[in-house]
This record gives sequence, structure tokens and C-alpha cells, in this order.
Amino acid sequence: MVFLMYMGIANWGGLLILQKVVGTQFETPSFLYFCGVALVVFSTRRIVDQRRERIKRVAAERHAYAVSTRDPLTQLPNRRQFQSEVSAALKSSNNIMSILLLGLDHFRKLNEVYGHLGCDEALVQIGSRIRDCAKSGDIVARIGDDEFALCLPGADPETAHRVACSLVETVKKPVQIGIEHHSIGASVGITQAGRGHMTVDELLRCAHVALSRARNTHTECCFFDPKMDAHVRERSLLEKDLRAAIGGYDIRPYYQPIVDLKTRRIVSFESLARWHHPMNGLVTPDTFLPIAEELGLINVLSGQLFGDACRDAATWPEYISLSFNFSPTQFSDRNFAQDVLTILSDTGLPAHRLEAEITESALVADFEATRHAIQTLRNSGVRIVIDDFGTGYSGLSHLYELRFDKLKIDKRFIKELGKSTESDVFLRAIFGLCKGLDLCITAEGIENDAQADAAFRHGAHQGQGFLFSEAVPASAVSQLLAGSLPAQRIAVA
Ligand code: C2E
Ligand code: CA
Ligand code: CA
Repeated sequence: MVFLMYMGIANWGGLLILQKVVGTQFETPSFLYFCGVALVVFSTRRIVDQRRERIKRVAAERHAYAVSTRDPLTQLPNRRQFQSEVSAALKSSNNIMSILLLGLDHFRKLNEVYGHLGCDEALVQIGSRIRDCAKSGDIVARIGDDEFALCLPGADPETAHRVACSLVETVKKPVQIGIEHHSIGASVGITQAGRGHMTVDELLRCAHVALSRARNTHTECCFFDPKMDAHVRERSLLEKDLRAAIGGYDIRPYYQPIVDLKTRRIVSFESLARWHHPMNGLVTPDTFLPIAEELGLINVLSGQLFGDACRDAATWPEYISLSFNFSPTQFSDRNFAQDVLTILSDTGLPAHRLEAEITESALVADFEATRHAIQTLRNSGVRIVIDDFGTGYSGLSHLYELRFDKLKIDKRFIKELGKSTESDVFLRAIFGLCKGLDLCITAEGIENDAQADAAFRHGAHQGQGFLFSEAVPASAVSQLLAGSLPAQRIAVA
């Protein structure tokens, strides 16, 4: 209204100026008529413009809201919206509810095969199937690239499990990508909410732990269990510590002697990794090597250990060799053999003083790459040892196809020596085979004289075990070689 009055006065002012300029006096009724028409035209235009602006603003706000709360691909609520809806549901009800987290299996591989567009097609179909599985009141969302979350208010564990299983079945049905049909597996982690004061983030974290467990154990659905959580926390701490330990060179090679069973003289040392953990003390490799492998740090760690071991071994007497354990992953790497030879030359350890230990699992993992690495190393003078023989899955044909220099019989067979006919029969067969192939045999895990004698009688050339010595730090090697550790058992070569 004020605006209209202002415009009226402005119009009147304008008219007075016009009168002055033109020099004509307008009559009062025409002036008023003129003012009225101008006012009506002007205010109508303003009203129309304002309405248009309001409609535009509402549409823009709606769009911004949709973008911030919906997944643009599947049109399902996104993580943010899921969090706000579940959080509201948690506040408004004391009833139990189940949170389900569904993860698609091998999604990254699917991306590699079909590309982003193909994956998008698959996700749209899967998203719509998951939405169809939900009943009214359930909250369904896509909360990650390959993750969907559901909140089922009022659902007890039994119902949640039933829904989870039917979700997996539904998702598994083939999706159409272009002209192809592809089946995508899924796993579900389930957690219960309602009792206690957990936030949505905490609930999702628990469901995530359960999902990882489902994936690792190849069970389609898995419930969260607090013990699982403790394990995950412990493990993530260990991962953090391990990264720091590798960065700080806190994992060092220790050396266990291998002796000639006839003379009881040391012929070589096997490098065994030991981690000086600030809280847990000396940690053995079975604890940290699988984690280093999973974290993709095994090559870095092994490179450090191998470099250290070669430098140490270069200071030992000429006739003492170094045995080093290489992981199956390393043997699958095309540059592996060349890297080993480079480190040997950098550290000054001659190739003929190195024994590369390889387990049967490397042969199963990537036979061709392993064969190539073995050939390159052998051609340079490195001896190849097959470790833990009898515990893996490789066939005897591998012994025939690949040239090894030495075979180590696993400690579990040595323990059984003379105790069971089966293990004696097995060992006799292996010893016979090795003799025929002209392979040196080392018996592992010798803990007493009886085992050392029995292994020798069966035909083992060398022995390794606590009877002779445990693995010792580099600084104690010279004492072992001097015969002062552990006294009588070992003679100096
Ligand atoms: P392995 O190559 O079979 O090494 C022998 C294992 O048997 C060592 O365990 C050693 O301490 C243990 N041992 C030796 N003598 C006896 C005995 O008389 N009785 C018993 N019960 N055990 C004995 P450790 O040091 O815990 O190593 C476990 C495995 O970890 C090794 O088995 C090897 O496969 C792997 N490993 C160790 N160091 C490295 C490394 O630097 N790189 C890689 N890739 N693997 C390593
Ligand atoms: Ca070994
Ligand atoms: Ca072994």
C-alpha cells in the first residue's frame, strides 16, 4: 500500500514536470484518471512478477532439497536423509528396530568389466528391487557406491534375518546391462537398534562390522556381535601400529641356524621376521605378515627385511648361506627376480649364498609367474627351496616341472616321526623322491635328539629347530658361530 501511494506521488510529480516542460495545464479529472490507470497497470505487473519469482524460488528450493537428500541415480534417499529419518525414528519410538546394510559383492570388478554406465544401469535395477522389498514405514537408502541401508522399525532379529535373506535372493537375480545379463551377489550385515543410546552413525558402523564378517565368512547375512567389534578395533589398532612399525624399520630379521645333521655344524641361517612392539613385546610373523599382505605392504616390508638380511649375511663367513622367505605375492610380481638380484648386488652378497624359500601356495597362486621368477633366480646362481612341504596344495608334478635345490619337510611331519605309520610312509615316499631328484632335504621343527636322529636315519641332510637354537638377533649370530650359544648342540663349521 505504501508502495502504491509512493508510486502515486511519483506519478503526480512526473505529471507536474511534464506540465512545465510542455507548457500545458492538464485538467484535474484527466490527471486523476491517468494516475489510476498507471497505478493499476504497474501493480498488476508487480503482482505477476512476484508470483513468478515465488514459483521459481519454490521449485529451486525443492530441487536443492531433492539433490541434498536423494541419490540421483536410484532416486532413493541418500546417507544424509537416511541418518535424519532414522534419527527421528529413534527419538520418537522406544520400539526395537533393525538396521540392515547390504553390500554388493565384487562391485569394483563389475566396474572394470562394464564401466560406469553399465554399473549405473545395474544399480538402478537393484535399487528398485530393494525398494520393492520394503514395506510401508521402512526406510530404504543408498548410502555408498555399492551399499544400501534399510531401517525396519519394529523388526525383531528373526524378521530382520528373513528380510535380509530375501534381499540377497532378490539382488542375486540377473540384472540387464546393455544386452547382457549379469548376476551380482550381495551380503548383509544386521544390527539391532532401539535399546541403548546409539546414534545412527554408531548403528551403521556396527552393521558395517557385521557386513565385513558376512563377506569374510562367505555367509550371506551376519548379525553384529560386540565381540566382533572388539576384534575389529584390536585389528585396526594393529594395522595402525604395523604401518608405523614398517615406516620406522621396527621389524627386523632374526636368524635361526640350519645345521648339517651329520656333523651338527651350522651351514646357513634362515631369516625370520620379528617385530619389537612397544607394548606387546616381540611379535612373530604369523600375526603381522597376513596383515601386511592385506594392506599391500608386504613388498615394502620384505624389501626392508631382505636388504637388512643380505647386509648381515655379507659379514658372515663365506661358507654360511642365508635362507630368506619370500611371500607368494612377491613371486607373482614380474619384476621380483630382478629386484632380488639388484639387492644382492647392492649389498655385496653373492647369489650362490642365497637360498630363496618359497611355499607351495606360491605355485598354486600364479604358476607361470613363479616359474619365470624361479628360472631367472636359478640362472643367476640363487638356490631355490620349497618350504613347508606337504602342507600345501601343489601336486608332485610341480616338483618335476620346476627345478628346486632343496626341500624342507614341515615340522608337523617331524613331530610325528616314529609315532604313526602313516607319517612314516609319507616321509619315506618323500625322501625316496628327493633322493631320485637329487634334492637336499631339511627337516624342520627338530626339538630333541630322537627327532634329529630319526630325521637323519630317514635321509634328511639338514635340520632346523629349537634343539639347535631359536631365531636370534643379528648381534648373536657370531656367538652361535663361535659355538657359545646354545653351547654343546652346535659345532662350528
Ligand atoms: P617357516 O618358514 O616355516 O619358519 C619356521 C618357523 O618355525 C619359524 O616360526 C620358527 O620360529 C619356527 N620353528 C623353528 N624351529 C622350531 C621348533 O623346533 N619347534 C617349533 N614348534 N617351531 C619352530 P616363525 O618365526 O614364527 O615364522 C613363521 C612363518 O612366518 C615362517 O615359517 C615363514 O613362513 C614366515 N616368515 C617368517 N619371516 C618371514 C619373512 O621375512 N618373510 C616372509 N614372507 N615370511 C616370513
Ligand atoms: Ca621358511
Ligand atoms: Ca617351513
